[in-house]
Amino acid sequence: MFAIGNSAVRHSLCSASRNSPVCSPSKNSFYPLKTSFGNVTRSFATSQKRAAVPPILFVIAKPLARIISLVIGRGARKWWTRLPEHKKITFSQLYQNNKKKVYITGGLAVGGLALAYESHIQECPITHRRRFVALTPDQAKKIGESNFKDILEEHKENIVDETHPVYDKVAGVANNILKANKDLRQIYDKTWTLTVINDGQENAFVLPSGNIFVFTGMIEACENPDELGIVMSHEIAHVVLGHVEEKLTLTSFIQLLMLVPMAVLWALLPNDGVALVANWFMDSVIDVMVELPFSRDMETEADRVGLFMAAKACIDVREAPAFWGKMKVRSEDPLLDKETEFSSTHPCHETRQQTLTEMLESAIKFRSECGCERLNCDYDPIKKVAALAAFLNSRRNRMERSREM
Ligand SMILES: [Zn+2]
Repeated sequence: MFAIGNSAVRHSLCSASRNSPVCSPSKNSFYPLKTSFGNVTRSFATSQKRAAVPPILFVIAKPLARIISLVIGRGARKWWTRLPEHKKITFSQLYQNNKKKVYITGGLAVGGLALAYESHIQECPITHRRRFVALTPDQAKKIGESNFKDILEEHKENIVDETHPVYDKVAGVANNILKANKDLRQIYDKTWTLTVINDGQENAFVLPSGNIFVFTGMIEACENPDELGIVMSHEIAHVVLGHVEEKLTLTSFIQLLMLVPMAVLWALLPNDGVALVANWFMDSVIDVMVELPFSRDMETEADRVGLFMAAKACIDVREAPAFWGKMKVRSEDPLLDKETEFSSTHPCHETRQQTLTEMLESAIKFRSECGCERLNCDYDPIKKVAALAAFLNSRRNRMERSREM
């Protein structure tokens, strides 16, 4: 078993027994994913060789693009306003005479961007979805490593000690998932760590560098280790699928595309106030039209892959739809006003429950092909949803009655 911890020397799976047997079920059982699970990848290559773009550029792309477009556009507007009339006429004539050249230059820039986009299309691990990624896994790892230090610093007062039983419990679940999925390069090429943070928010996430964070609020929200395993498998799946690289690439590319329109906006609109509002409006449109649906698609993908990673770790996969059913019931209760950052950019709980229910049969089959013990038929996790709904309902009624008295 490989060790995970906050700060101690850790052993990555590559130095552990990555060649020991892992579950290799028939590929057909992994419907609806075209998967490569079960094929032990022996290469240690961690990234493709590409021109190195400093990773920090991807992180600061949004504010950087905002500042560049503001400075250029606003500067152009001020310069034009101050220009004497006869010079304005000269520039207008210059533009009219060179219209063709301007259009050709614009066309070449658009062509260049299209080429850059096309040359960075690659296949997503496991699902084989074609996607646009400009950031290499190594660059994402570096971003993750720097985030790791920041997050540790931010929560240093609340880090649960590695000797605490709660830490032990979460570490057991994490190790189980990682060991069962160690045939995946994205699992064995990382040094995994686990940090448990004593904080009531229901949150858990994993950095691309393999640093798992679980908040005690999330541990409390899970009724058993299998539920926690479902949540953690989902988060680990994000890393396996390279979602951070994909998200940062998309955000940076959109910012690059919007650089010229935003600068034009700042230049053409009569004053800074109007330009600021227009800027905010364009930002919101991009968020709603592109980034949010994109985030939700990635969540669904992580749900699907996470479910099979959990199945491979012999976790009771029936807990997955039940967990989201419970989240739905809880989100509808006005008395429960918990911080749920975990699901803010996720599809709605009902959709997740439905998607996971649809996949349950193949996940159970896959689980049994992995040699896991049969699931207990006397226990049905989905019944917890109805029980919770009934409990919250009666509590609400009780409170209403006592208020009337
Ligand atoms: Zn997620």
